[in-house]
Amino acid sequence: MKKVLMIGTGGTIASEMTPEGLTPGLSPERLLQFVPAISELCDVDCVSVFSEDSTNITPAHWMRLAKVLREGYERYDGFVVSHGTDTMAYTAAALSYLVQDSRKPIVFTGAQKPIYFDSTDSKTNLTDAFVCACSEKLAGVSIVFNGRVILGTRARKTCSKSFAAFSSINYPDLATLQDHRLLCYIPGDRSGEPRFFDRLSTDVALLKLAPGMDAELLRFLLERKSAVVIECFGVGGLPSYGDNAFFDLVEEYTAKGRFVVMTTQVQNEGSDLSVYSVGHRLKANRRVLEAYDMTTEAAYTKMMWILGQTRVPEAVQELFYTPVAHDILHPEV
Ligand code: ASP
Repeated sequence: MKKVLMIGTGGTIASEMTPEGLTPGLSPERLLQFVPAISELCDVDCVSVFSEDSTNITPAHWMRLAKVLREGYERYDGFVVSHGTDTMAYTAAALSYLVQDSRKPIVFTGAQKPIYFDSTDSKTNLTDAFVCACSEKLAGVSIVFNGRVILGTRARKTCSKSFAAFSSINYPDLATLQDHRLLCYIPGDRSGEPRFFDRLSTDVALLKLAPGMDAELLRFLLERKSAVVIECFGVGGLPSYGDNAFFDLVEEYTAKGRFVVMTTQVQNEGSDLSVYSVGHRLKANRRVLEAYDMTTEAAYTKMMWILGQTRVPEAVQELFYTPVAHDILHPEV
């Protein structure tokens, strides 16, 4: 029988009703009691690393998860991480950078309804996650939700309430599950040796442009952070509003050593800064990076991982455009 480590972190799946609303409280052992069939699939050990609504999760929690995976890696065939859905895509992206080339499946799952609700999606998602963690076909970090297996670097929460909560952005699903049977379309690479990283920089900010935004907001972030990811409109660019303040700030602060990552707030098809003059004029600046088809979640956490290793512009640029777990399909270098 396969051996799987179940890592509990909280979320709706493990939540109980309190007078203040749903709050995580159930241990991973308790969750498994609701789905006895999982014990027929594999031997399971459980560890509760924290018990949080995922709204509260920070990069420090990602580091703790990476440590648990590293310490248990050789003892298990696969891993199931039960996690709140709200920031699951960020955690899955971050773990895709902290644990690279894993030949074993590291499967995130959660639910929109707590496990003891009659109408819960928890039991299906949990069973599916264990099927994936035991699979010989999958490898690396994925999210298993509502019968879909989505690459960790490509996942996004796109529905706040319905069971079909996650989408795969600019990349096909890796597999689907029907009646807990796995149909794999894109097998994982199980030939590699895992590489674990233990540094992430929190020196990164994310700014979503909105029409008429005051450029001083960008200055505020560039003043305090080494990298700012800007979610632009459409294929990408910055507004000039007659005074060029956004462009001047990018020039001023990249000259001082900051990095700017241009991504798009449009969910599908990614950026292409070269199309319009509002974006094209940024292309010459080597400290301005373009996220292309990456998700914002991946671009943000990849910069955290990169700045944990280096601040040398050429190295930052090369790492950013080098695909990790199929996070980017249009590398520049
Ligand atoms: N607020 C919850 C969380 O992210 C939502 C969920 O798990 O579905 O922890």
